[in-house]
Order: sequence, then C-alpha cells, then structure tokens
Amino acid sequence: MSADSPPLRTEQPPFTGRTTKEWQAADAAHFLHPFTDHQALATKGVRVITRGEGVYVWDSDGQRILDAMSGLWCVNVGYGQEALIEAATQQMRTLPYYNAFFQTTTPAATALAERLAARTPAQFRHVFFCGSGSEANDTVIRLVRRYWDVMGQAQRKVIVSRLNAYHGSTMAAASLGGMAAMHAQGDLPIPGIVHIDQPHYWAHREGAAKDLGREEFGLLAAHWLEEKILAIGADKVAAFIGEPVQGAGGVIVPPSTYWPEIQRICDRHGILLVSDEVVCGFGRTGRWWGCEAFGSKPDLITFAKGVTSGYVPLGGVMVGERMARVLIEQGGEFEHGYTYSGHPVACAVGLANLDVIERQDLVTRVREDTGPYLAQQLAQLMEHPMVGEVQSCGLMAAVQLCRNVPLREAFAPEIAIGMVCRKHCFDNGLVMRAVGDRMIVAPPLVITRAQIDEMFGLVRQALDRTHAEAH
Ligand code: PLP
Repeated sequence: MSADSPPLRTEQPPFTGRTTKEWQAADAAHFLHPFTDHQALATKGVRVITRGEGVYVWDSDGQRILDAMSGLWCVNVGYGQEALIEAATQQMRTLPYYNAFFQTTTPAATALAERLAARTPAQFRHVFFCGSGSEANDTVIRLVRRYWDVMGQAQRKVIVSRLNAYHGSTMAAASLGGMAAMHAQGDLPIPGIVHIDQPHYWAHREGAAKDLGREEFGLLAAHWLEEKILAIGADKVAAFIGEPVQGAGGVIVPPSTYWPEIQRICDRHGILLVSDEVVCGFGRTGRWWGCEAFGSKPDLITFAKGVTSGYVPLGGVMVGERMARVLIEQGGEFEHGYTYSGHPVACAVGLANLDVIERQDLVTRVREDTGPYLAQQLAQLMEHPMVGEVQSCGLMAAVQLCRNVPLREAFAPEIAIGMVCRKHCFDNGLVMRAVGDRMIVAPPLVITRAQIDEMFGLVRQALDRTHAEAH
C-alpha cells in the first residue's frame, strides 16, 4: 500500500460503517452488476439492501420492503431461518469443504442426494450436484449427449427449447434459453440448440391464439414441437427442455393441455424430456415439482435456488433411472464435474431447508391455502382499468398491463410501462418485477394471508400511480 492510499475498510456484517452515498460511490467505482446498464444505474445510485427478516428486507436508509420476488425466486423459506444458519455454521466448523471427486464424499452431500431422491417422482433415484441453475442446465447438455453416445445414437444432438425461456447465463444455458436480448450479445445460440414458440396465450392473442380457447391453444403450441422434430428429423433430436411455468419470461402459465401433449410427443419420438425446475421446484407451484403440477414425467429435472432457499449457492440435476442406469452401467467415467459439486456447506443448508419446508408443510400450504388465496386477490385486480390479464400458479403470479383493456391494446414500448410500475412499487416498499408490460410476483412460501393482503394493497397503489402517470 502506498503512503497516499486510503486506509482499507474492513467492515464486517452488518456493515453499518458507511452512509448510503458512500456505498453507492464504492459500488459505482468497482462493482459490475449482472444484467445492468451501468450508466443508467449511475444516474440513480444503487439500492443497498442490508438485512432481511421473514418476507421483508431493509435498505441502507432503513426503509422496509416487502420482498414479493423472494430475492430472485429463491428465498422460499423467508429470511432469517435459524435452522439454515445453524446448519451452515455447524458444517463450516466441522468440515467447510471437501470435494466429491476421486471416490470421496461427505455425509452432507450423500444425505442430501438420498433426501432429494425420496422427494422426487419415482423415476428418479440419482442426483448430480453443481453450483447454480446455469451449471445444472449446462450439465444437462453434457448428460444428454453422453447418454445418446452410449446408446449408440450419437447423431441425436439437437436440443429443442422455447423462445422467451430462461435457462441461465453461461454460453450453453443462455443458448438453451430463448431470450432475444441475450442471443443478440455474443453470437448465441451455440450450434445444436433450436427454439419453438412459447405457450403464451396473451402474447399470441392477435395471432395463433386468435380464435382459440386456452386449452385448444395449448395443444396447438405443443404441436409446434412435433413440427420442429419432423423438420429436423426425429432421429437427430436429443431432448426437449422447458420450465413448467416460464418464470423470468413473465410467469407464463401454460394451458393445462400443453404439458401432457408435450409428453406424448416426446414419447412418440423417443426424445428425452427435461424439466427446468430452478424456479418451479420445492413447492413454488403447490407441488414439490412443477412437473407434478402439470402432468409430465421428465427424464431430467434441473434445480437450484429453492433447494437452499438461496442462503448459499447450490444446483443440481435429478437424473431419471432410464438415463442413470445406462450411464452408470455402460457409461464408464463421466468427464464432467465442478469443484463445488456436492459442497458440504451448501448440502447441509439444503437438508435444513427441506426440514423447514416439511416441518411447516409449506407445499400443502401453498397448494391449499396461500396459493388459492393469492389467486382470489389477483382475480380482483381484473377490475383495474389497466389490467388485461392475470395468471397465477401456486405462489407465482403475473399481472398484464394494458393501455386499453376492452381492445386488449398494448402500451407503446417507449413508455416502458412495466418499469414505471416497478419504480412505483419500489418507492412504496414493494419488490415486484417487470417483464416488459407484465408485472410479476413470487413471494416467499412462508408468506401469510395477512401479508398477501398487504402485498396486494401495495400492488394496487402502484397500479393506481402508474395509471395516473400514463393517462
Ligand atoms: N433456470 C431457470 C428457470 C431460472 O429462472 C434461472 C435463473 O433465474 C436459471 C435456470 C439459472 O440459474 P442461476 O442464475 O442459478 O444460474
């Protein structure tokens, strides 16, 4: 350190040593944030979140905010759960790290694998661990290709995904995803990944869905997969991947006909089905897994986020027996793995998280109580002059903003109405996310009815203010 360098700051949690302005200056100087326009951020200054409790977080100015997005769809058991904190602390003391390579394991990793197998549909007995949802979906590509190689069908390489899907941000996961803005940067998708359109009834209202009911449209959208398979040649298609409910795409709840028909099409052509449950897993839909809510029987399930409620990073792939038996009995060494595959601290937190979900019976609560209650409150928003459609599944929901409701007419894109609404939410103590003109929520699964009421009170205020500003 040179004589004129500023002294090093060594704050420890709860980091009370600096003002908001000081944090903002340090952040602007050094932190490149994910999915962020830094010039836009600099004009306003980053918001500094300093602590959380239950369904609330607080910022560095002391404002309490109802976190209706569970962090980033992950803090399912809410903030401040002692059992998870204790599990991490104990595991760190006992064994903070050991790898799962070279014929070793740790009790935490093996116990979590066993526990997940018991909580997953019968066709699953095995899990591969990694550090995130993106890594889980990258792993899917490697697993699928390896499986077809071992099966003597190495020509089956193509994975079909959907436009507006989100499967992560690595080169492969962003390619599997169907986000146009991501594909526009960095020459994506990589070869071997193709996309079909999404089962988004509202988005297709003036096109493919124009004269169809929702369920009819669901069948039509599923058949886009079959058309694609036939165009490529069924013997070249390896797998189809989809989120049961597209989360980051805007909480697109598919018609109930969609997934069963997708399943029939995959079965007919011998194609593997991958359910990306990074958002939908661990009770979000009111079932342990989204595929159980929508009637598909996937060969692979990817998960992350809710497995530890986001307290520490962990992801993984549940591998169905059809694939696992082939890979284990005929595949030899699978040349793939991560330093943090089966990280013992993450797995210990995962086990404690599953304990909380089970002890509080959160999955049943979402299915039978808070999910239906949220749907009821949401339905009342249809009276609002700016709401064109509402959709929900368990504790994830979308509100479609609309300029002219009877005509189902959209706002001009330059108004960025979703961002206007998001700002009103944030300023008023509510985190709600904007996906284009669609406002979405996915609150912690521990949310109570009273807190759902509070959330909708804040949503209504934000809608009123947005309406006043836009008209
Ligand atoms: N899959 C889905 C459905 C997601 O929503 C996400 C993240 O939001 C991912 C994968 C990627 O997970 P991660 O950000 O942990 O890499």
